[in-house]
Amino acid sequence: MTHDSDDQTVLELIARYSSDVIAQVRPDMTVSYISPSAERLFGLPTSQIIGRHVADFVAPEDFALITQATREVIAGRTDDTVVTVRVIRADGAEMWVEIASRLMGQRIDGDPGNRAVVIRDVSDRKALEDALRAMAMKDGLTGLANRRAFDEALRETWQATLRAGSQMSLLLVDIDDFKAFNDAYGHQVGDDCLRSVALAVQSAVHYPGDVVARYGGEELGIILPEADTRAAAIVCERVRKATVNLQILHGGLDAQPVSVSIGSATAMARDGGSVTMPEALLSAADNALYAAKAAGRNCCRSAVLLAKT
Ligand code: GH3
Ligand code: MG
Ligand code: MG
Repeated sequence: MTHDSDDQTVLELIARYSSDVIAQVRPDMTVSYISPSAERLFGLPTSQIIGRHVADFVAPEDFALITQATREVIAGRTDDTVVTVRVIRADGAEMWVEIASRLMGQRIDGDPGNRAVVIRDVSDRKALEDALRAMAMKDGLTGLANRRAFDEALRETWQATLRAGSQMSLLLVDIDDFKAFNDAYGHQVGDDCLRSVALAVQSAVHYPGDVVARYGGEELGIILPEADTRAAAIVCERVRKATVNLQILHGGLDAQPVSVSIGSATAMARDGGSVTMPEALLSAADNALYAAKAAGRNCCRSAVLLAKT
């Protein structure tokens, strides 16, 4: 088995040729060595890092990942671990890093051992990943959430509704006679109109948890967490008015502005409810939309259902 000081000499040698931060961590999770490049990453002289506990430098909500990784080592399932966590710099800023650690020397039962640790700044990669994820959730034409984001938000909102034993509403918004609009003006103007309607609808929906998405074609979906039938009816009317107030002349119809029809469905999480969610909510909203179209368009229709808890 090697000694701490021998290990450190090896680490210092590696550190000299690496832009990563190299460290040694004791079984009690205190830092016994850290390379000079840590000063740039943490904004602290190495003398103020050595001797301190790892938890002092890791965002509290991410520390569980390190605990979990250490547990794997103690259990003998692995000698190497890699976690991506936020570290807290001396100025309070958070920075994403990847921490790879490896057991040094021989394993001692029930003890994580001295560990060699490589800390790499991955904030650029993380920012790129976040940008890509956001892009994958966004509709290219309207800038609204796309269908994938909508499906995810609908599932999550229903789970939260179940936990709270509350209710939520879903609105399906469809542009009226849009085929005739396209036929009159062409697809390009149709796309512009769709963008305008999307913006108007988005600005008619106010709460931070609400989601406005392009559900498909010229149909938008609005998820309203917590909203009861009254709240849903208010939003429906606001969305309907915001669209006609755009005053986009519908070239396919006589002197009428572009309008939308809206189907709204409110689901209450109650014992005894028998429908399957969120499919039932979607089909109830879709039926309500169909009823609004049948009632002459530029109007809202609603439905209510009790869902099983
Ligand atoms: P209704 O009032 O019954 O909704 O009549 P509609 O003509 O709008 O009928 P429907 O909703 O079935 O037709 C959708 C039409 O919307 C088909 C297509 O011409 C047009 N559309 C769908 N997506 C787009 C799009 O991304 N851009 C443009 N320009 N038009 C689209
Ligand atoms: Mg339509
Ligand atoms: Mg449609």
